[in-house]
Amino acid sequence: MTSSEIERPSELKADPPALIASLQLLPSPTPNLEIKHTKLFINNEWHHSASGKTLSTYNPSTGEKICDVQEADKADVDKAVQAARQAFCPGSVWRRMDASERGRLIDRLADLVERDRPQLAVSVQTLESLDGGKPFLQAYYVDLQGVIKTLRYFAGWTDKIHGKTIPVDGDYFTFTRHEPIGVCGQIIPWNFPLLMFAWKIVPALCCGNTVVIKPAEQTPLTALYMGSLIKEAGFPPGVVNILPGFGVTAGAAIASHMDIDKVAFTGSTEVGKLIQEAAGKSNLKRVTLELGGKSPNIIFADADLDYAVEQAHQGVFFNQGQCCTAGSRIYVEEPIYEEFVQKSTERAQRRTVGNPFDPATEQGPQIDKLQCDKVLELVLSGIAEGAKLECGGKSLGKKGFFIEPTVFSNVTDDMQIAKEEIFGPVQLIIKFKTMEEVVKRANNSQFGLVAAVFTKDIDKALTVSSAMQAGTVWINCYNALNVQSPFGGFKMSGNGREMGEYGLKEYTEIKTVTVKIQQKNS
Ligand code: NAP
Ligand code: MG
Repeated sequence: MTSSEIERPSELKADPPALIASLQLLPSPTPNLEIKHTKLFINNEWHHSASGKTLSTYNPSTGEKICDVQEADKADVDKAVQAARQAFCPGSVWRRMDASERGRLIDRLADLVERDRPQLAVSVQTLESLDGGKPFLQAYYVDLQGVIKTLRYFAGWTDKIHGKTIPVDGDYFTFTRHEPIGVCGQIIPWNFPLLMFAWKIVPALCCGNTVVIKPAEQTPLTALYMGSLIKEAGFPPGVVNILPGFGVTAGAAIASHMDIDKVAFTGSTEVGKLIQEAAGKSNLKRVTLELGGKSPNIIFADADLDYAVEQAHQGVFFNQGQCCTAGSRIYVEEPIYEEFVQKSTERAQRRTVGNPFDPATEQGPQIDKLQCDKVLELVLSGIAEGAKLECGGKSLGKKGFFIEPTVFSNVTDDMQIAKEEIFGPVQLIIKFKTMEEVVKRANNSQFGLVAAVFTKDIDKALTVSSAMQAGTVWINCYNALNVQSPFGGFKMSGNGREMGEYGLKEYTEIKTVTVKIQQKNS
């Protein structure tokens, strides 16, 4: 799926206003909705937090509180881990379940997500829109579609995970088994709350693990809704446990827990380091990390200019710029530089920012004040360091956390904005002269998540793609992510891969079984 061509189910090819009307969703930033689940989901039951504490979740369009949610802490993590361990113990329903039956449960969950798709659009996706500030139509088409595809894809894998027979030396018969790791702790961010929830729990369940997952404190509501569907689908108690809470308390308790066998994390590089450290200091649990990026997007002069401008625009502004994949360092070859800057600025000025429930909206608010302030501070540093502000650069409106689509030209590699992850709607356009030069400059980053190149010359495209130090390279496209192919980072962008067949490797232990063969004379 690509961010620029948001896929729409054929029956919904109708215009977005008709879709919104059919879902009876008023284009209001504060639609009336009933929030059913605000408690911790442990052992297929809803629990109060042990401490009695709650955390509040806010609507980024207005800054107003949506509701209070039970706040998990270490004691709740212990309780959830116990439930997950019980569900994983030898002889449990989950461990004895046929792999094909696990697939059926995951498929059933996909059915429920599909069944609730209209309500999900109004409730879960509305919560998502409220929680994440993302435009409703993006949440409906991109995020939700990604969730369903993830479930369907991994539902098909459950009974196809197997080892090898190995012709070892000597009189032995050796084979490998790919076994589940055990209890998996999972910690996710707020930028794609429901999609990241699916990317984490589904491959883990596919391989037969059990899960304790902590959504980001800003976005607990969609995860809790999924808890109710997981129960309805028929997953045994304890297989999935969902704990809203803060990173420094609940998250840290997961990372350092002695009875969690693996931790999977998506978020900032800074916290990724803490997770790895905590795993090392506790029980050396397996660690996969999907961290930040500062991804280069290289546009050669022979590229289709208008197409490249639009792709580069979507590549950075998609999801309010709050994407680990954001292509914020845009390297443009000298002959087309001025025209590219001009067209990109015009496009950014045309970008519609506002109410996430208005079908015309391309960009909603940033997630919260903290992120909004951080982005605006980086914009100021860009101006101070001499980059040319072509448009935007300020906050928008009196309520909520909106930022004008911002374009900088004349950016140099040493500026703070060119080195740090901005995580906001800020595009940096940088000039280059030769392929050798741009490859070197593009790779000169601590990050290595994704890269892109736009050119009509296949040799150039393939040369650049092999030279890029990045987990994914897109040629003449951007954000073309899919469930079938692996995703993850080089360097400080992470460790391990998610999705596709490669993603299964991260949720299994390989066991070698060797049998002595007593040779018999026939
Ligand atoms: P973050 O702090 O890395 O948060 C990600 C998750 O980790 C959240 O669930 C968070 O809990 C949890 N966490 C925080 N501190 C922890 C700790 N000490 N131990 C265990 N878990 C912990 O990211 P953020 O604060 O949301 O955003 C900060 C920056 O991170 C952004 O500006 C962006 O640069 C980057 N980021 C990257 C991605 C990505 O997709 N790679 C996603 C989000 C953010 P809380 O609920 O308390 O936050
Ligand atoms: Mg945070």
